[in-house]
Amino acid sequence: MPDDAHFAPRRCLAVHPQHSDHAADLLAQAADALIAGDSARVADLLARADMPHLRTFSLRVMGKLDPDIHRIRPASRANRSAGKSGQRMPSQSVRDEVLRRDGYHCRFCGIRVVHPAARKRLRDAAPHAVPEGRSDTYHAAFLALNATWDHVIPHSAGGNNDPDNLVTTCWPCNFGRGNYTLEQMGLIDPRLHPPVHTNWDGLSRLVTIPRPEKRRDIQSAGTSAVSSWQHDIEQVHPGAARHLLALARACAPIGVDHVTKRHFALRLSVDNHYIIPIAIHADGSVNLSWSIGQHKAAMQPFAHRIASAIPGASPIENPGGWIVGFGGKRSLPVDKLLAAEKAVVAALIELREAVCRRD
Ligand SMILES: [Zn+2]
Repeated sequence: MPDDAHFAPRRCLAVHPQHSDHAADLLAQAADALIAGDSARVADLLARADMPHLRTFSLRVMGKLDPDIHRIRPASRANRSAGKSGQRMPSQSVRDEVLRRDGYHCRFCGIRVVHPAARKRLRDAAPHAVPEGRSDTYHAAFLALNATWDHVIPHSAGGNNDPDNLVTTCWPCNFGRGNYTLEQMGLIDPRLHPPVHTNWDGLSRLVTIPRPEKRRDIQSAGTSAVSSWQHDIEQVHPGAARHLLALARACAPIGVDHVTKRHFALRLSVDNHYIIPIAIHADGSVNLSWSIGQHKAAMQPFAHRIASAIPGASPIENPGGWIVGFGGKRSLPVDKLLAAEKAVVAALIELREAVCRRD
């Protein structure tokens, strides 16, 4: 049993390695190269910033619970359902305000973070140098340094989107904490540390420069040819493939990756194998519990959560797990699932915690 020192209050889950600072410098040089119109240099700098060591660090902090990093007090797992308040994400204007207020530094660990729109600009300039999608191949510097907004009182515990309840964080600090409270993880309230202002602008200087050319859509996921799966689903639900790949990118930082062969599947690594809680077929039908091993119990709240976010949908118990039915069918149309994207991501986070729990 860990002693009290193990649970002593700390500033962040894990201190970034020095590589993070080096990566931030390389990204800043890439931003300047982009402004200067030197796309070859942009690609070169982005490739250099994609350091495996950083990916290892980020995935360890954001991945399954690790007693050396997450240190959750054993008695404090209760009261995690205090009721939610309104929208999960703050408005864009609030998000920008919080980033500026915090000087584009993580309020937990203090690392320099990158404005999401700046990441998009760099990626548009050199798409092959900035892999996204799967968390194990996601560009390491952005995995470590992407800016996000953390609810100090978690949204799941009733925290609101007031700027006073929001702090700028790096992905590892935010997704590593998940829905746990500061107290549960033994973290010092980040608001006690004043924001740091340096000449770092989160590369937001890129956001205002004119866009050179149209974004590549489906192919921007890193594939050079549109797969038959994408082709087929687009016939039934135009726009669905691109939206699913965006959903997959949103899931990457929470430890959920995706595969696309004959179907599109979101999968979670559990004890050295994969489970597939959601599969979307080429005809646009969605099946839950596609391949879930022994985790049927965890699929019940998962299916309920998703069904509750979709009017007309209902959870159905299957011998092998729980599915969501809609309109008399034992599956869900993909557009209904995508309309409930936030609930899907939240359900995946809860599912990950349920199946990766170590006690
Ligand atoms: Zn951080």
